[in-house]
Amino acid sequence: MLNIVLFGPPGAGKGTQSQKLIARYNLVHLSTGDLLRSQIAQGTELGLHAKKLMDEGLLVPDEVVIGMIETQLAGNTDAAGFIFDGFPRTVPQAASLDELTQRYDTGVSCMIALEVAEEELVKRLLERGKTSGRPDDQDEAKIRKRVSVYNNETAQVASYYAGQGKFHGLNGIGAIDDIFSQICRIIDANQPVAPVSGGLAADEVKA
Ligand code: AMP
Repeated sequence: MLNIVLFGPPGAGKGTQSQKLIARYNLVHLSTGDLLRSQIAQGTELGLHAKKLMDEGLLVPDEVVIGMIETQLAGNTDAAGFIFDGFPRTVPQAASLDELTQRYDTGVSCMIALEVAEEELVKRLLERGKTSGRPDDQDEAKIRKRVSVYNNETAQVASYYAGQGKFHGLNGIGAIDDIFSQICRIIDANQPVAPVSGGLAADEVKA
């Protein structure tokens, strides 16, 4: 299995690159932010509780997101692999991901971190907020709060993967296709697999 952790602050381009990677490697996309927003849309109790934290730019509790990932792994045992987008965001989440993937005799293949400076993130997210409908993208103070939560609580996840020799940092500013090619090079060097049948070659994937 090819299991990629796509890492970086909010607005770094994880969602955009995930869409291209899914097509290239035929992977299942697991975004804890998307899973939480789906719970909110369904009006579940979990969603109601998470919404308050998400609107403030705070993290939802580890056990909530770990439980969601556990369910998704159990429901996709035929997958060629996964892209984890926005997960793990804490060291306990990273340790749980190791434990959960071990249950299926697999593990994290590599972690790719998109690095983007705060001012660029704020600019991108305010722009996204004009069309995304996400309350957490529409207020500069809330965006800066999310970036500070990332710096204080999430950035240390990079050291966790560096300790396993799996960390790869990339400049997240530039043309989407150039960044995508760099990500593919890292993946192919770490896991020398041919694209899974049905996936598209890198130059066939549209931006
Ligand atoms: P995202 O779509 O990844 O930007 O996530 C939106 C919000 O969902 C975050 O600001 C957090 O409130 C929450 N969230 C998403 N993923 C996680 C996670 N792995 N751990 C804790 N909170 C999360």
